[in-house]
Amino acid sequence: MSGSPGAEGALPLEPDRAQMEAAGIAALARAVAFIEGLDSAPGQSPATPELLRALAAPPPEQGRPFPEVLDQAMAALRPGFETAGPGYLAYIPGGGLYLSALADLLVAASNRYGGFADAAPGLVTLDHSVLGWLAGVFGYPEGWGGDLTSGGSISILSAVVTARDARLDGRLHDGTLYVSDQAHHAIAKAARIAGIPEANVRVVPTAGDLRLDPQRLDDAIRADQSAGRRPFLIVASAGTTNAGVVDPLGSLADVCAGHGIWLHVDGAYGGMFALTDRGRARLAGIDRGDSLTVDPHKGLFLPYGTGALLVRDGTALRASFAMRGAYLHGFDVEGGLPNPADHGPELTRHARALRVWLPLHAHGVAAFRAALDEKLDLARAAYDALREIPTVEVPWEPELSVVCFRHRAGDQATQALLDDVNGAGPVYLSSTQIGGRTYIRICVLSFRTHADRVTAAVDLVRAAARGH
Ligand SMILES: *Cc1c(COP(=O)(O)O)cnc(C)c1O
Repeated sequence: MSGSPGAEGALPLEPDRAQMEAAGIAALARAVAFIEGLDSAPGQSPATPELLRALAAPPPEQGRPFPEVLDQAMAALRPGFETAGPGYLAYIPGGGLYLSALADLLVAASNRYGGFADAAPGLVTLDHSVLGWLAGVFGYPEGWGGDLTSGGSISILSAVVTARDARLDGRLHDGTLYVSDQAHHAIAKAARIAGIPEANVRVVPTAGDLRLDPQRLDDAIRADQSAGRRPFLIVASAGTTNAGVVDPLGSLADVCAGHGIWLHVDGAYGGMFALTDRGRARLAGIDRGDSLTVDPHKGLFLPYGTGALLVRDGTALRASFAMRGAYLHGFDVEGGLPNPADHGPELTRHARALRVWLPLHAHGVAAFRAALDEKLDLARAAYDALREIPTVEVPWEPELSVVCFRHRAGDQATQALLDDVNGAGPVYLSSTQIGGRTYIRICVLSFRTHADRVTAAVDLVRAAARGH
């Protein structure tokens, strides 16, 4: 047996074949048991102080037996929100497709370098293939550029940086950008990181329909132009986090075109519904942005850590992010396969392509379309059923898969209702503030959520609403 010496039972850095297989089977058995337990797992579970204390211990000088360490790892994974379970209807749920976990195992075991095409041409082809498929879904013509990111926030950051570089010539103090009061805070955060003065982020108030109004937007732009400022970017939502509302993307694209302003479409939550017929209709105009964020760890049910960015003009994306050090001589920017490192802030990175590509090829796109269609149906069913509860107000018909509602007695009763529902166990919901009022949200987006769980959620709301 090779490898470093360890205490009795500790694995060496280079385990032999039998050790690798035993360790792999032990980990896999726990993963499968975890997934099998999701159906009956509570929507959230607390962590005991003893557990957290044990987990905070520093690594020992001599290794411990692997099964023991694995069991502790599983204990660490257990408490918190059951984000992989069918009852997780809070925030924006995502997924955790099993095949993506297996893909990550293969990527990590092979330790392929995904930053440059020459280092891993096959893997980088998968990266390009996945992005190319997305470009096709969203109608981005040849010449597009893209990046698989760690999530929506970094995708939005890269978009803001690209728009800044393409439109502001390095002069940031008078560049203004526009969002609605329903936009995700990741945009303001990206602007701050990108050096756009916070006072230059214009938040356009929405009316009762919660949409960014093209006329109000145009007024705000003209006011800034008259004051000598330089409007350079509008970020529209293709599905807001609060209520799943889609901004009028086509009209906003017209406003942008009229002023030469960059349009970024934030489809982190809603974008992937474009795989369905209803979604495509509701997201009309999503193909007209200069750039687009989607978040496969939401709408494609992948594990956390998978976002994506598409930019219509790939040259603009590379102008912001392609850079070389002397030690990286020989990796061409143009021609041949695009290098992922030239399309985003990361150099060495987790090769994310396989966790996207493998489930898409193994399950087929139709499986994703059908699952997303089911989510639209479930949200509609929740809306219809909630409206039958007399003490509950459900103001917005769901456009995608978010339903917001509140107790008619006010914020306090709404909060009490939420606490009762979450305390029951089978589902976990979250709340938000819209127009200064508290709303409970049901967001159906996990591939594991089906009709029985949505019915259970509504039943719990009905029972709890009686008590407040
Ligand atoms: C989730 C979300 C984001 C942020 O994406 P992360 O993947 O959480 O970084 C941005 N915009 C919208 C609309 C979102 O729903």
